[in-house]
Amino acid sequence: MAGLRATERRLILANVDRPGYTPDIECYLRHGGYEALRKALRMQPRELVDEVKASQLRGRGGAGFCCGVKWGFIRPDEKKPVYLICNADESEPGTFKDRPVIHRDPHQLIEGMIIAAHATRSHLAYIYIRGEFPQGAKILERAIEEARQKGFLGENILGSGHSMEIFVHRGAGAYICGEETGLIESLEGKRAYPRIKPPYFPAVLGLYQCPTIVNNVETLCQVVHVVRMGGAEFAGIGRPNNTGTRIVSVSGHVNRPGYYEVENGAWTLGQIICDLAGGVRGGRGIKAIIPGGSSAKVFRMGEKVRLKQKQSDGTVAAKEVDILDIPFDFDSIAEAGSMSGSGAIIVMDDTTDIVAVLNNLNHFYAHESCGQCTPCREGSLWMQKITDRILSGEGRPSDPALLANVADNIAGRTVCAMGEATAWPVQSFVSKFRDEFDAACNKAQS
Ligand code: SF4
Repeated sequence: MAGLRATERRLILANVDRPGYTPDIECYLRHGGYEALRKALRMQPRELVDEVKASQLRGRGGAGFCCGVKWGFIRPDEKKPVYLICNADESEPGTFKDRPVIHRDPHQLIEGMIIAAHATRSHLAYIYIRGEFPQGAKILERAIEEARQKGFLGENILGSGHSMEIFVHRGAGAYICGEETGLIESLEGKRAYPRIKPPYFPAVLGLYQCPTIVNNVETLCQVVHVVRMGGAEFAGIGRPNNTGTRIVSVSGHVNRPGYYEVENGAWTLGQIICDLAGGVRGGRGIKAIIPGGSSAKVFRMGEKVRLKQKQSDGTVAAKEVDILDIPFDFDSIAEAGSMSGSGAIIVMDDTTDIVAVLNNLNHFYAHESCGQCTPCREGSLWMQKITDRILSGEGRPSDPALLANVADNIAGRTVCAMGEATAWPVQSFVSKFRDEFDAACNKAQS
């Protein structure tokens, strides 16, 4: 592997595994907690938005949208109430980056939320946490009460004139509640049917048809560090348009699965897998990597991708690189044909049955489709039935092409991005491992 070596750089996870560190407010305060909030409350909302814009912070929930730009959609003269929602649904398979922060450093999230609320002139915020995280919900409730007791929440926070409250709302455990408009519907007490965008962009028509900012847990925690160090300094971490650090959750056939925090673009995929996650168990080879949660397109080991790279003379030229040499950041993974999504890297060794993996994913997405639109509802089930058939030994030679055809007719034809989430694994697995799908189907026919 070429290139870029660095050490893990922990901003958000700095205290999470520190011996003796506890999730109570006294411990957080002893480690400099709520100092960024004090600084933020001395700033005007517009200055805060500009600071976050200067940091080039991109959302860490999956889509990677610029956080400051999103906040900037809230008009200074907005007459309706503005809501802030922390998306703690963490439902993308392979992702486990937000839970350690919630469990072990909840005040970092609360501090980030109060800063975000001040910047967006919001006085009411919700943490939407998935139903399977009851312990996390309790920890957050306790932390919110502690913050209220210390005057960080409630009326006239620290004498700033800004007032706000935060409430924890537990979901019932559905993948689609991680989609921001589905989440909003759920928070309103309805079935989590995603809304059509446009017109329902949350920053314009969100919760109760009012402007609403939805940010992921990690994004809101990053805000604390943006304010603490200033947007320009934060932007100096990582590389342009891919600034700051990123928490990656590495799972699958690696020796040390876990969460790691790395500077954006400073590590290659291979370095994260081999150096941080300890390489593949049993010394086996890698067969496939999903770089950004289960809906991201898979990479096949041995595949070459073309990436634009800066040359020593300052010019930029496209170069062919091995997938293990792709720098882990938003733009590089996208340029290589996939996405870094939620930062969940899933590693499969050379014993993996690829058809079985896709079948597993197909079952998941067919089960989690909200059913609102036909291509996703019917197509995800058809794809599941086809891979069920192949695995049962009844596959037909036409099945790989049929799978690809169904997927092609889902992506881009649905209300929300789950259409892509269910189609992309099928499209990428079938195109990159066509030999294995053909072999499984032809074996069935012989
Ligand atoms: Fe529901 Fe799927 Fe349509 Fe999204 S794409 S609204 S999950 S049916």
